[in-house]
Amino acid sequence: MKQFLVMIMTVVTVWVSAAHVDAGDKIRVVATIEDLACIARDIGGDAVMVTAIAGGAQDPHFLDAKPSYLVQLNRADVLIENGGELEVGWLPVLVNGARNRKILPGSPGRVTAMNGIAMLEVPTRLSRAEGDVHPYGNPHFTTDPANAEVIAQNICAVFCAVVPTRTAKFRANLVAFKEHLDAALKRWQGTMAPVHGMKIVTYHKTFSYFARRFGLEVVGTIEAKPGVAPSPGYLAELVAKMKAEGVKLVLAEPFRDLKVAQFAADKSGAKLLITPSGVGGNADGRDLFSYFDWLTKTIVAAAK
Ligand SMILES: [Zn+2]
Repeated sequence: MKQFLVMIMTVVTVWVSAAHVDAGDKIRVVATIEDLACIARDIGGDAVMVTAIAGGAQDPHFLDAKPSYLVQLNRADVLIENGGELEVGWLPVLVNGARNRKILPGSPGRVTAMNGIAMLEVPTRLSRAEGDVHPYGNPHFTTDPANAEVIAQNICAVFCAVVPTRTAKFRANLVAFKEHLDAALKRWQGTMAPVHGMKIVTYHKTFSYFARRFGLEVVGTIEAKPGVAPSPGYLAELVAKMKAEGVKLVLAEPFRDLKVAQFAADKSGAKLLITPSGVGGNADGRDLFSYFDWLTKTIVAAAK
């Protein structure tokens, strides 16, 4: 641990003195996941320089703490976290190591995207026997694009507090973002209309919010419980259920055990769709709008 801290301090010191990335008079914003970074870019416009720690091809629950993340966090004016314990396994240790008071919990530069979100799957009791269950509920709320409105408001409020001189601009960007989002939500509902009521299985409970928004029914998960791999017995039961219920699609992110996902799909007659968990996981989904354009069209095409 001591060695790790020495490494952290060395990296931070070297970076600050040498490899200087010029942000001009822009505020430096770090988002934990690309889903949040792309919203921050739309709200902050030319007043911000936004980077993300994880893209949609990485498991947001488990990231290796790379020194480059510490460098990002050390110079950040604003940190946007998802919250709901999505990043609990890695963000607190990074923030401690980054030695930056601006982004500590409770600081004006800290955005928690979850504030004001209607959370799903909030447990009535917490027990390790239920797997990696979070007390606030399912933290994968960015898979419902409608939640981006609340997230954008949370980001806007912090940007206005950190750079009060740009308040009018941030608020105008927020209004434009909401209009853009409202139009896109209508488009996505239209795209998804032919698969309304379709039964799916997901690897992890990543797409619960997406499914609710677009009328898909998640009848099970490949994982036995959140973060718990399936046993052969569990898989056999799941496959039987998938056949009985007529499950059409299995959604799994690229970092899952895809052999197991393919096995369940093959045995039940469903199709496996490998999809990033969010923005920035493939070339088609570089921002919120292009990601959901891609995801909705891809799901409908795969269901045919
Ligand atoms: Zn999760």
